[in-house]
Amino acid sequence: MNYQKSFVAPNLKTWSLMACLFAICSHESSAFLNLSRNAYPSIESDATTVSTNPSTNLPLNDINIVILTDVHSWVAGHGSHDPHLNAGYGDILSFYQHLQAVLDLEQNYGKDLFFVMNGDFLHGTGLSTDPPTMLVPILEKMPWDAVNIGNHELLYKSTIEYISKPNGFIDYWKGTYLTSNVRLAETGKSLGSRYTFLKGSSNTVLTFGFLYDMINEDPSAIVDSVENVVKEPWFHDVLQGNQGSFDAIVVLAHMDFDSPHAHLILETIRSICGDDMTVQFISGHSHLRATEVFDEKCISVEAGRFMDTVGFVSFSNKGEFQHEFIDANIASLASTLNLQEDELSTKEGLALTKLIHDTQEEAGLLDLVACSPENYFLNRTLDSSNSLWGLYMKEVVPNHLFQLNSSKIMIQERHDFWYNLYSGESRMQISLNRVSQNKYTL
Ligand SMILES: [Zn+2]
Repeated sequence: MNYQKSFVAPNLKTWSLMACLFAICSHESSAFLNLSRNAYPSIESDATTVSTNPSTNLPLNDINIVILTDVHSWVAGHGSHDPHLNAGYGDILSFYQHLQAVLDLEQNYGKDLFFVMNGDFLHGTGLSTDPPTMLVPILEKMPWDAVNIGNHELLYKSTIEYISKPNGFIDYWKGTYLTSNVRLAETGKSLGSRYTFLKGSSNTVLTFGFLYDMINEDPSAIVDSVENVVKEPWFHDVLQGNQGSFDAIVVLAHMDFDSPHAHLILETIRSICGDDMTVQFISGHSHLRATEVFDEKCISVEAGRFMDTVGFVSFSNKGEFQHEFIDANIASLASTLNLQEDELSTKEGLALTKLIHDTQEEAGLLDLVACSPENYFLNRTLDSSNSLWGLYMKEVVPNHLFQLNSSKIMIQERHDFWYNLYSGESRMQISLNRVSQNKYTL
């Protein structure tokens, strides 16, 4: 029996199969592209500056952190199919700049704002490639204070080499790309930094970046088990204050919000720093909005996925915690800052939106590829008429992949589709397929 692991090109093949199914829309695609281009305001005419009287309805405290996690390359937002999620990285950058202006006000002296990204920037839309040559110039425009690694960044050698090369993506963050338990196999050394101190005007926050005990990383990287790393001397040394004093601890944890490994990390922190040390876990990976109180001075917060959420946590040195999940749409971001929608964009934010749009256009991601007659959803049963998996199983695989050869069978893992297929025009901007690691044909 011919048994082969089939590496379907990420994104492209599934789309081309879908394109076979649907009639191409009657629009001239060039006409649509013109419309699309005009939808973006010009930087010169429409950019706003940060208000002279900035404000927010977010609950500010000693330490305030804006969070992005598991964006999986949805840096442009979700486009016309999902208008509720219309904020992209340009809008988030604008939001952060307005919020920083609030924190800079005299009445907020002593309160600090940080901005973090908790990993999994890869795989999900057409902007994601291995290595991530299109994404990295976009990500480097975000003023993150700390970046954690996600499991998706460790799936391919080409990406690991690309981000870890001299003067590459990891070096760009100048010691704030955190890999507390990830090493390069070639050198045996930590891929990024094991920890960093985020220094604000009044608060110093010791920050780690842990990844769950991943087992399918590319062999060019080593993910050390959390169980072992919490016993290592460097971890104890920094918690004992031998590398500098700190007021609170943030653990960027690319692991489920209630992961036993997070509890294990906390256990070690408590054994060294005591019960009074404020500890904030910023979790990810399970793609949920969720919180879990670990103890009186520790809480875990996970802020969604696929650019559906901008997370916000604030806490005092005394361990009073608050958090908000802001929907990633322009109206929600603006109202959080007591602004009108058209007041949100800053010059830098608009420039980033333009860079994202230009990158998409150059890569052909805004080209029309097909039209779907109706919505197909991931979470419908196979026999439902609008089940995406049902469509794939009944139409795409037998008619196009197998070309009506009924002797073939295929085994495919359930994670290969990540998002719904909406009716109307489909572009390469949003993909259906991420990395087809586990697809077998017989
Ligand atoms: Zn993820």
